[in-house]
Amino acid sequence: QVKGNGRNAYSLFSPDMHTTYRTRVGLENELRQALIRNELELHYQPQISLSRNCVTGMEALLRWRHPSHGLVAPSRFIQLAEEAGFIHEISKWVLETGCAQLATWRRRYPELRLAANLSSRDFDHTDLGETVSRALVRHSLPADSLELEVTEWLLLEDAERVRPRMQGLRDLGVGIVIDNFGTTCSSLSSLQRYGITRLKIDRSYVKQIKTTGTHPIISAIAGIAHNFDIQLTAEGVERDDQRNALANLGCDEMQGFLFSRPVDALEATRILQDLRPSSTVGRLTYSTAIS
Ligand code: C2E
Ligand code: MG
Ligand code: MG
Repeated sequence: QVKGNGRNAYSLFSPDMHTTYRTRVGLENELRQALIRNELELHYQPQISLSRNCVTGMEALLRWRHPSHGLVAPSRFIQLAEEAGFIHEISKWVLETGCAQLATWRRRYPELRLAANLSSRDFDHTDLGETVSRALVRHSLPADSLELEVTEWLLLEDAERVRPRMQGLRDLGVGIVIDNFGTTCSSLSSLQRYGITRLKIDRSYVKQIKTTGTHPIISAIAGIAHNFDIQLTAEGVERDDQRNALANLGCDEMQGFLFSRPVDALEATRILQDLRPSSTVGRLTYSTAIS
């Protein structure tokens, strides 16, 4: 080894870096295998309409049932899959699995919707629209039964690339949702340009709601949504006072631990069937049950 270079060379291959690299590559391979070995699963969190006081949709949230680490949260592996270049394979699995589940539910609850999360990296693929439409067709689902959640960051990415794919999705008729809205400085004109159908107010704002029930940013977002004819959902609703405040602030739908945590498909089915009258979701009904 050349002296003088030594310092940089050493830090590049320090034992820590080496371990991290190995762990990372190991994890990457395990995650690739997870798809094949059927270790991925979807959990579902109910979305509640305030005006109808019923479950209108389910958001599919990905989990990895790791053979030795147990249930792994998406924050631990989504970015890895994005960087390793196989998030699109995962998204295809999510769309297929979520649509299959939705089709089963819709036999009893014909108006139920599914919301699936997409990665910005999915918009690098020209077959995105096809992937979505294939999943819908395979399960005989109308396009408006599916919402695709993307983050605000996508609106800041290269419009030349994103726009045609977004247009393709809009042409299909699926809903396009901006998740965690309000956390970056996306331009308001892009909401119209991309035909956004729903905004989800980030949990951090819901947390800040004062005892007076007011919140200037949420009010502003509600104003934008209603002027643009965009639906408004609040995420991370944990308390009754937040729910009441959000109703007054003009939210259409809500999601959060107050109603239910994300649960597996079996439990989500039970929620729809309203078989747990003693739980917080017990007071909720599905729309066909009350109409
Ligand atoms: P997200 O789409 O914004 O999902 C909401 C997250 O907030 C979920 O975390 C959910 O469990 C959590 N949450 C819901 N209600 C409450 C509440 O009342 N209080 C609190 N403190 N948290 C609440 P989760 O399931 O760990 O997902 C984290 C993120 O991972 C998601 O954020 C989404 O960006 C990403 N993700 C999940 N599934 C997928 C997927 O299938 N594909 C992609 N690309 N990303 C996914
Ligand atoms: Mg989401
Ligand atoms: Mg969110």
